[in-house]
Amino acid sequence: MRNRSMDAELRERARQVIPNGMYGHESVRLLPAEFPQFFKSAKGARIRDVDDNEYIDYICAYGPNLFGYGHEAIERAASAQRELGDTMNGPGAPMVEFAEAMVAQITHADWAMFCKNGSDATSMALVVARAYRGKRKILVAKGTYHGAAPWCTPYPGGILPEDRAHIVYFDHNDEQSLADAVRANEGDIAGIIATPFRHEVFADQFEPGADYAATARRLCDEADALLIIDEVRAGFRLARDCSWAKFGIEPDLTCWGKCIANGHPISALLGSEKVRKAATEIFVTGSFWFSAVPMAAGVETLRQIRETGYLERTDAMGQKLRDGLYAQADAHGFSIRQTGPVVMPQVLFDEDPTFKVGYGWTSECLKRGVYIHPYHNMFMSDALTEADMDMTLAATDLAFEALKRNFDTLEVHPILATRLGH
Ligand code: PMP
Repeated sequence: MRNRSMDAELRERARQVIPNGMYGHESVRLLPAEFPQFFKSAKGARIRDVDDNEYIDYICAYGPNLFGYGHEAIERAASAQRELGDTMNGPGAPMVEFAEAMVAQITHADWAMFCKNGSDATSMALVVARAYRGKRKILVAKGTYHGAAPWCTPYPGGILPEDRAHIVYFDHNDEQSLADAVRANEGDIAGIIATPFRHEVFADQFEPGADYAATARRLCDEADALLIIDEVRAGFRLARDCSWAKFGIEPDLTCWGKCIANGHPISALLGSEKVRKAATEIFVTGSFWFSAVPMAAGVETLRQIRETGYLERTDAMGQKLRDGLYAQADAHGFSIRQTGPVVMPQVLFDEDPTFKVGYGWTSECLKRGVYIHPYHNMFMSDALTEADMDMTLAATDLAFEALKRNFDTLEVHPILATRLGH
């Protein structure tokens, strides 16, 4: 058993001074006991918890660290700017350079605005969409995560129906449902917001059809409403352009975050020319939105995106993981589902309605130094080496073996048991 004493102590102290000891999606409340809450350091594709246990990491801080933790060139750019200044009376030159780099990279974009988190970018997109023609309704696919602002948080605490008064829900990837929602709100539609593919927790991921994407575009055009794509999670992971570029669909607004500065805190809203005027009419700001260090890191991250083979490498590595896990599950008599793009894997077990089998397997992976998630999609890091992948697959194989051995002792996670009514 790995030493976890420092983590246990910090959790105990946190319970006194932090509600629930931790909040939000990085809380380990819903994870198996083997998952540490607190981390000490991270480098490349490795992460170390506060007790100095090391893991090969398949979460990348829930997305941001595309090129690996502490990437040399990106950190060099950040450090150089930090020497000059970070949060000042106004932005530095990197703001313009980063905006130029994003606009040059993303076909639909003619302008960029920066903020801190994905929720800032998606919420700002709604404000711009409403400013565009003074219409109110935003169409959102049911159960899709767009952040933790009152209009979109998945949890009801402290949220009023009025916070969502003009949010209209439709079924994801269902053209009829989308068309019905548009018809029911004719004349008052500000925009449709969609994620590039379906990537929700505790569920198989799936990619939408080209027809759904084309329908969303057409309905927006007919209604003079804006098509908003929330690229916060999938952006730059599937393509060097918008994720729906492969369908030939250009959105009007796109929301970016997570990996655009490889772990440095910054997000962005990009827009096309026709939305520029609306973007000038809104007031949005934040004390830290114009800090120069994340923007300098972003400029270098964009250079890595343009000039390196990261996309092809993470795709090949993701395929290797997927093939390896299928073969191992099969050899040990388990049936798993690996869904979504290989660069953002989701691994769930068949006949596992309480998720106890998946929880058991990921616990065994953690014990063997591989950080694999039981219910959230994962992210491949460009820093993963062939040796890391070999070590990963050796560990996951042993984890399947241990899972089989301990199968009869698996228990449903207590919080999940309550939620699922078991
Ligand atoms: N949109 C999507 C699709 C996301 O995955 C997330 C974060 N998981 C957000 C928005 C919100 O981003 P943040 O947590 O940075 O506010």
